[in-house]
Amino acid sequence: MPDRHEFSLMVHGGAGALEKLDNDKEAVRHLESIRCVLEHGRMILRAGGSALEAVEQCASLLEDDPIFNAGAGSVLNEDGKVEMDAAIMCGASLAAGAVAGISDIANPIQLARVVLAESEHLLLIGAGARRFADRWHFERMPESYFRTRERVAQWEQLRSSGGAGLDHDVSVWPGRSSDDKHGTIGVVARDGQGNLAAATSTGGIVNKQYGRVGDSPIIGAGVYADNATCAVSCTGVGEDFMRTVLAKTLADLIEFKELDGAAAAVLGIEYLQRKVAGRGGFILIDRQGGCAAGCSTRRMIHGWIEKGGETHCKF
Ligand code: ASP
Repeated sequence: MPDRHEFSLMVHGGAGALEKLDNDKEAVRHLESIRCVLEHGRMILRAGGSALEAVEQCASLLEDDPIFNAGAGSVLNEDGKVEMDAAIMCGASLAAGAVAGISDIANPIQLARVVLAESEHLLLIGAGARRFADRWHFERMPESYFRTRERVAQWEQLRSSGGAGLDHDVSVWPGRSSDDKHGTIGVVARDGQGNLAAATSTGGIVNKQYGRVGDSPIIGAGVYADNATCAVSCTGVGEDFMRTVLAKTLADLIEFKELDGAAAAVLGIEYLQRKVAGRGGFILIDRQGGCAAGCSTRRMIHGWIEKGGETHCKF
């Protein structure tokens, strides 16, 4: 008999230097948001909801919170516009849906879920994704929904220095403002049936080139789920995660080396750093419901509920 209390859930809000969290008020605000999302997910999973349902709903809440770099709080590209990427994956079937270069949808993760459920394809981009969204009656949000005063100021600062970079980071990108405080979001879950699911959603990196796609919508790079191994969501410099196919590498460490999630997480971070001096982190739930995380940056905002236990939040 599956045990409804044996669910696990993890959430992240991005990795980087995150100097803003040295300020108590900001730290509390971020941790409160993560905690609220975890409690919402707990309700879904405790009531018997699926891992896929839980990751979609939790990711949607994080997209709606403008303190994170996804949905409403997405960073701006070199043209001062949003281009969002998102993906969702079901560990029971290996079905996945992903979208990239989305500019006017409040919840790209919901569009990715419809791609998973209704399209014969896996990844839709730009105008094609827009056409698909119209078919499924997704509301078009005005540019003003995304262009907050803070986002425009952040973009202008980076644009004047000619850099592009990780939203949370202040150390590696020239001219980067220490006011940056947003982050890509991700959710992984294991439900009472033992099914795993993962979701990642992002506005990408600040002042990125028009048309740039990061790791978040790439299955195996920024997101992965397979009931036989684990569910993973990554955050950080997308190019580093694509070059190391990090989410799938973590799953492979579990599958072929027969490691648990915690041991795979240690090797995964070592691999990311050794191969490409990669910057970022990930959250992972293994098939037994064990929660693990790793990051090569100073911080990663994240939280978890392991096997129906207490809620933990950390950065
Ligand atoms: N990985 C995301 C990207 O490169 C950025 C992030 O995680 O903050 O698009």
